[in-house]
Amino acid sequence: MSNLRHAYFNWCPVGHLPGCRRPAWDVQTLRLERPGGMSELGMRAVCWSCGTVHDLTAHIAPDTDPNPDVDVNEMRSEAHLRLTATWVTGYGQPALRSAGLWLHPGPAVLRRIGTPPDPVGYLVTTTPAVPRTATDVAGVITRRRGPRGGVVWSAGVGYDPPTATRHGLPSRTAGARWIAATITAQTTRP
Ligand SMILES: [Zn+2]
Repeated sequence: MSNLRHAYFNWCPVGHLPGCRRPAWDVQTLRLERPGGMSELGMRAVCWSCGTVHDLTAHIAPDTDPNPDVDVNEMRSEAHLRLTATWVTGYGQPALRSAGLWLHPGPAVLRRIGTPPDPVGYLVTTTPAVPRTATDVAGVITRRRGPRGGVVWSAGVGYDPPTATRHGLPSRTAGARWIAATITAQTTRP
């Protein structure tokens, strides 16, 4: 009987926000093997309309005695079930248009309560399609704190590794413009 109960009653429905205009789940799985034998499993459901994200991730320790060279705290199994939003995850938000490119937001920077969240950076593509592999990425724009506490931006053309980088840009738009100009210069080079 417990199998029947488990099949029906132990699971919870995944809900949209009230008034979601296009309730549909973009469901993805994650499977990663990490150095040291840890593995990571995950599943997330993302609604591109109301911005709801449900995700479940599990870090699973290997069934072996811990390696004495590895901090034991980094080798514990743990799992997280989370209800969050696309402004936190980045993924699930529409891309921004800038300098003829598409900027796909990354996860939000942790900031003080009351300040609007901003992404840590953007994956940049030359077409509107959401990047699915590293080869889809034309460049990256990232933000960080400058020496006087202000935000400065870095841009790179290509991805992992970039073929060109520029630091200390004043804005996200400046990053997109620099990437667009650099791609044009690279493709028109004789
Ligand atoms: Zn929804």
